[in-house]
Amino acid sequence: MSTPEPIAAPSDFVRDIITADLASGKHARIVTRFPPEPNGYLHIGHAKAICIDFGTAQEFGGECHLRMDDTNPSKETMEYVESIKQDVRWLGFDWGEHFYFSADYFETMVECARTLIKNGKAYVCELTLDQWKDYRGIPTQPGKDSPSRNRPVAESLDLFARMRAGEFPDGTLCVRAKIDMASPNLHLRDPVIYRIMRAHHYRAGDKWCIYPTYDFAHPIEDALEKITHSLCTLEFEVHRPLYDWFIEALGFEAKPRQIEFSRLNVTYTVMSKRKLLELVRDGHVKGWDDPRMPTIAGLRRRGFTPESIRNFCKRVGVTKFDGFTDIALLEHCLREELNKTAPRAMAVLDPVKVIIENFPAGQVEWVDAINNPEDPAAGSRSIPFSRELYIERDDFREDAPKKYFRLAPGKEVRLRYGYFITCTGFTKDPATGDITEIRCTYDPATRGGNAPDGRKVKGTIHWVAASHAVPTEIRLYDRLFKVEHPEDVAEGVDFKANLNTDSLKVARAMMEPSPAKAPPGTRFQFERKGYFIADSQDHSESAPVFNQIVPLKDSWVKSEGM
Ligand code: ATP
Ligand code: MG
Repeated sequence: MSTPEPIAAPSDFVRDIITADLASGKHARIVTRFPPEPNGYLHIGHAKAICIDFGTAQEFGGECHLRMDDTNPSKETMEYVESIKQDVRWLGFDWGEHFYFSADYFETMVECARTLIKNGKAYVCELTLDQWKDYRGIPTQPGKDSPSRNRPVAESLDLFARMRAGEFPDGTLCVRAKIDMASPNLHLRDPVIYRIMRAHHYRAGDKWCIYPTYDFAHPIEDALEKITHSLCTLEFEVHRPLYDWFIEALGFEAKPRQIEFSRLNVTYTVMSKRKLLELVRDGHVKGWDDPRMPTIAGLRRRGFTPESIRNFCKRVGVTKFDGFTDIALLEHCLREELNKTAPRAMAVLDPVKVIIENFPAGQVEWVDAINNPEDPAAGSRSIPFSRELYIERDDFREDAPKKYFRLAPGKEVRLRYGYFITCTGFTKDPATGDITEIRCTYDPATRGGNAPDGRKVKGTIHWVAASHAVPTEIRLYDRLFKVEHPEDVAEGVDFKANLNTDSLKVARAMMEPSPAKAPPGTRFQFERKGYFIADSQDHSESAPVFNQIVPLKDSWVKSEGM
């Protein structure tokens, strides 16, 4: 591949189906939904689903509902609900008035289960889970009928009412749909639709001791909300016949169609909410919004933009193939955007002092610096130049190799937007061998970075005037995992063994004055160092804190041979 995929969404099988359904008049308007379970924060995989669910609805002038899929109460919380709303909004999508909770349909779902029982399509079963595994059998052989399968309707109705009333212990009875014990699809072998479970629900409180299963609840919710296209990930493909069976058996007028696409997997990360929760709970990261997390909240705090995430999802596309996407593609989408939009500034991450011997002490000169060479409208700013400066420690070598074009004894280099300087000497800490001070002279005729005599220097380095430098905490993030596929572990080995224990480094940087004044959440390109964002929680003018979003080097472009 020599150029990236176009940003404009190409067609795909989901869009083709929708286009056909609108053309044939099957639907006048499309309705989709995004149904997260509020048991964790949303991650980049959910962003893909959100872009597909909300994005296609938007594109076709329809609507997309946001529904909390909260049929499984034990791990769900209101904090997660709020984070989900915030993240979907931040990504740029709007559910209008269509915000729903599965739990609000529980009463209707009980009615649906009663309807199935009355029509001889469901029964109360008394097999334990272990017994049921045995009865259900294996795909190549028919299962055995539950002894409860032909229980009279009236008896099932009575038992179901008593299940709800709390007369039986957890797990003793359940309601099963009566479908086909010989089906090669195990999901059709009389699946459970209601179970007894005494659990507090964050929304419904302690009202219920019976809860519907996801397979039963989902088609009902979709049908009630008149969803036209129920887009979900491939693991639900084998559940589709069951989904259709419920819609048919319950006689809903709306006939939502389930369509599956492949999940997003990204290298160097894990995506399951259970595993992400483990990282938070065990303190491997500092919360769900830790900038190293693949959560939307983490990506936001790290400095990713909604546009870059949406563009990434477009490039990933909608397919039926499971595979891994290189995390470098996500970073590439961000760089591409920030290169155009982020103002430039100078910050020295590992400072060493430079003394300009022929520049008067106490004097400050203001030089012009361009804010964004990619955006003339961004204008320019004045930055101070003084006798004492900071440069990066690794922009100086005591013994420079031949091809080293930065600063070294006797060598001349250009200070970006400043002057040419020539190194005349340096001082070392005798104990550590570290350079403590570099001495230089400057050529006053080279202001702005060009010599009137036409002499050239090969190296240009960034710098900050010590007189005005703002000490800044810069958080440098590396990948959270050391390996491309952290979940590929030998039996008995935990995925956390693949954590990169060195994924956060803190630099005590010196920064030019203006970025310190920027409000939290402002992004900059620190010249030669990458893209940075003023931390949304810890940054202030008096104590600036920046997160590195990505370095400048684009490994995606390199790997794609662009
Ligand atoms: P997890 O395994 O992380 O807990 P989940 O599928 O149980 O994920 P849900 O909250 O139920 O999480 O997901 C809501 C929607 O997002 C579902 O329709 C699901 O298919 C979709 N989704 C979840 N993970 C991904 C992913 N990695 N790629 C694309 N879509 C995803
Ligand atoms: Mg789920």
